[in-house]
Amino acid sequence: MNVYDSARMADLMVPFDYKLTDTSEDADLVVLNTCHIREKAEDKVYSDLGRLRKLRAQKEESGGQMLIAVGGCVGQAEGEEIIKRAPYVDMVFGSQSYHNLPEMVAKTLRDGSKGINLDFSPEPKFDFLLKQSSAEDGVFNKSEFISIQEGCDKFCTFCVVPYTRGAEFSRGSDAILAEARNLVERGTVEITLLGQNVNAYHGVGSDGKDWSLAKLIRELAKIEGLERIRYMTSHPRDMDDELIATHGDIEKLMPLLHLPVQSGSDNILAKMNRKHKADYYLGLVDKLRKARPDITLSSDFIVGFPGESELDFTATKKLVETVGFSQAYTYTYSPRPGTPAAANENQIDESVKNERLTDLQGLIMRQQKAYNTASIGKTVPVLLDRKGKLKGQLLGKSSYGQSVHVLDAEGCEGQILDVVITGALQNSVSGVIQQSLERKHVG
Ligand code: SAM
Ligand code: SF4
Repeated sequence: MNVYDSARMADLMVPFDYKLTDTSEDADLVVLNTCHIREKAEDKVYSDLGRLRKLRAQKEESGGQMLIAVGGCVGQAEGEEIIKRAPYVDMVFGSQSYHNLPEMVAKTLRDGSKGINLDFSPEPKFDFLLKQSSAEDGVFNKSEFISIQEGCDKFCTFCVVPYTRGAEFSRGSDAILAEARNLVERGTVEITLLGQNVNAYHGVGSDGKDWSLAKLIRELAKIEGLERIRYMTSHPRDMDDELIATHGDIEKLMPLLHLPVQSGSDNILAKMNRKHKADYYLGLVDKLRKARPDITLSSDFIVGFPGESELDFTATKKLVETVGFSQAYTYTYSPRPGTPAAANENQIDESVKNERLTDLQGLIMRQQKAYNTASIGKTVPVLLDRKGKLKGQLLGKSSYGQSVHVLDAEGCEGQILDVVITGALQNSVSGVIQQSLERKHVG
């Protein structure tokens, strides 16, 4: 979501003659688009600001200028506090008000005033989101995000999202379909639909009725030239039968689903206010695999949630062993100010959290490596959407979400091609384009 928001901020500045720089040293404006989900992310903002302060002083000494802005969830949560702590910051804005960035920059340049904008309604933001061109070098703009849903009403007891991103909001489906068509006309072939709880999507459709995510995907799949659809992040409770069936029926819907479960212990799931049990999650996995037998799953896990016993942690490892994930993100619980779990007295020792994290990561890494190794010899469609470091090398994503490195791929930039997987590493696989392999055999 932050990657998407950052790209939109860059887009918004294009008409004012700004373009992306490779390093902050070269920038006239530096925007830190921040994350508040864990304490580490928040601490990083202040250490980055310290570094920027020095850079800015150097620039000013040599007659240059550098404006510094803090946007995103830390901006939303801390507001004016940021300027009190780091007075050299020029602008602070939240995750729902970044469409005001050009106006804020213009004002600060005009009169040197500090800009603070913490408006909280996502609707106006989307009106400003027409995609311009802020492409990174070496990336062919074949795969794009579309934000379709924002905020959350679920209030998991560990999470700041409902406080920093606000209440759940779904964009109307007409605007989303128009944005998708516009992207496809410019050459996009893969779209990832984004939302904090994307499968809770219920935007108003052209028929005046609320559309589900399943309905939206079916309509998007009709767009000629759009080859791949993905969505993230989903909540298990919103994974209904209609959406599961869509995985079976719509070939353009890619067979990788990120479905965070957080814990395998019913006791902890209840304390987290997840409102589902481990068995329910396993039932969903079964249904998904029946609908789309080759579907692969990824997830998020929090270890060391307040009160988590060894038995609870063992239940998490058991769930991981039962499902078999192709990848997953693991975090130690980080108390977030203002969330109910932060006030819980049964906080777990950091050393225990870290031990459990290492243990769980080891298990997940073994599963990921096994998944990648099992792909050797298989032929998978890969969207070759960026240049690699080596001459003639392209990088891409398989339909299952694996990163794929392909050598001898000159002339195939931006295409979806069948790749025979020939090697597996921990986080990626390597392969050869099937046609070039056939050519070599013939030769
Ligand atoms: N909406 C998604 C869901 O319900 O699963 C997750 C979105 S959240 C922005 C991304 C991930 O951050 C969560 O799945 C969770 O694993 C992690 N996370 C959120 N709050 C956390 C906290 N206080 N400590 C550690 N990890 C946290
Ligand atoms: Fe946070 Fe996801 Fe829970 Fe919402 S459902 S509160 S975004 S973890």
